[in-house]
Amino acid sequence: MRLYNTKSRKIEEFKPRVEGKVSMYTCGPTVYHFAHIGNLRSYICEDVLVKSLRYAGYDVKRVMNITDVGHLTSDADTGEDKMLKGAKREHKTVLEIADFYTKAFFKDFTDLGNAMPDVVEPATHCIPEFIHMIEVLLEKGYAYKAGENVYFDTSKLENYYVFSNGSVEEDDLMVGVRDDVDEDTNKRNKSDFVLWFTKSKFDDQELKWESPWGYGYPGWHIECSCISIKHLGEYMDIHCGGVDNIFPHHTNEVAQSESYLGHPWCNYWFHVHHLIDRNGKMSKSAGDFVTVSTLKEKGYDPLVYRFFCLQSHYRKPLEFSYDVLDNQVKAFDKLIKRIAALSDDGDVDSAVFDEFRKRFEDAVTDDCNTSMALTVVYDALKAETNDATKKALIASFDEVLSLDLLKKAEESKKDASSGEDEETVRFVTEKIEERKAAKKAKDFAKADAIRQELLDKGIVIEDTREGVKWHRA
Ligand code: AMP
Ligand code: ZN
Repeated sequence: MRLYNTKSRKIEEFKPRVEGKVSMYTCGPTVYHFAHIGNLRSYICEDVLVKSLRYAGYDVKRVMNITDVGHLTSDADTGEDKMLKGAKREHKTVLEIADFYTKAFFKDFTDLGNAMPDVVEPATHCIPEFIHMIEVLLEKGYAYKAGENVYFDTSKLENYYVFSNGSVEEDDLMVGVRDDVDEDTNKRNKSDFVLWFTKSKFDDQELKWESPWGYGYPGWHIECSCISIKHLGEYMDIHCGGVDNIFPHHTNEVAQSESYLGHPWCNYWFHVHHLIDRNGKMSKSAGDFVTVSTLKEKGYDPLVYRFFCLQSHYRKPLEFSYDVLDNQVKAFDKLIKRIAALSDDGDVDSAVFDEFRKRFEDAVTDDCNTSMALTVVYDALKAETNDATKKALIASFDEVLSLDLLKKAEESKKDASSGEDEETVRFVTEKIEERKAAKKAKDFAKADAIRQELLDKGIVIEDTREGVKWHRA
């Protein structure tokens, strides 16, 4: 697997710490609202990464958190708690909206063909672990108490800005920083961040826990450090998220985790670029965003959105519009029809199968080159081989693509004959299969007789490049 690593800013040959095994962590959603299709682009690309690794034979363990506390309206620890804001908006409790939006998230997530992570852990389930990590950071001198909060002291680190080498496009790294950040005067250094909040400003905070520093709640960044270490141990292979997570969120995670552990922590950082529309980055706080439900209401199959995402590279911004999506519907339909036209003819040709499987694996393990992988799909459909081999290849590719290709092809066949009654469809299908068998056995007289028998009943069959088709005369 070749993978671009945000840490080195290079494409590297991926080497897990333990041969054949990959530990992977994904920053999960903040569940104060529906996820938009931008958030879900990140999760689709991460799903492709997991499945590509599995396709290449790795045993992957993937952990995801659910942010149900601690994420403030500014990623830089100021403003209101997003969960509290969501609860007020809906006149519900924080737990009620967390539960509702977590369920909604995983419905959208799976509707888009994503496999469930191996572990999903809500932040509110891990308060003792957060407290423990903060205590260790205080003991080791990496943290301090001020104005009732506990902060991480970034001046204690030789290199806090781990994802910046001083010569890079700072704009890229600083996407998480907003202009409207009000200065927190309790901090020793501008870049210090909160580990634990007990500020009285949050008195109306419904989720509060007892801690050595008073009632309060954890900062957002500590969640991911703790939850990943809890489930994956002291070392991790790949950490994922959207590019807006690079700073400050992932930068702070590295600061906390490595100071706590006393050694390097995660080797590879995988960041997905943003989904944009004509107004710029799609974001929950902007209010005007597209969800999977919006797509469904407008009659789009969520998997068409996945197909759309797969055409582009995860490290490039992707521009969404309904016009573009309409073109994707046509392209997806065409692909499904081509697959639907495949018969079950022949035995799988293992040489051809292996050749195309390798080409596909080479594409997805080349820094998740999904557009190249789709080219391999079309090439396989055009290949000089029998339909059984093509079908087997499509089934294999779909382990990564997760577009339900064969299932949709079967459904489209049913649609194509929807004007006919079941008995006719069954009869014609049987006759076509009988004729194929006759042709295979070189009994051309029988094959012709079957064609004639159908014609006598007003049914015309055609042998096309894409298989046998039939219609009324
Ligand atoms: P959130 O629920 O806001 O914590 O975000 C969940 C994930 O979506 C994070 O990994 C973000 O980096 C990512 N994300 C947010 N906005 C976008 C976008 N417009 N395009 C792609 N990914 C995004
Ligand atoms: Zn995170």
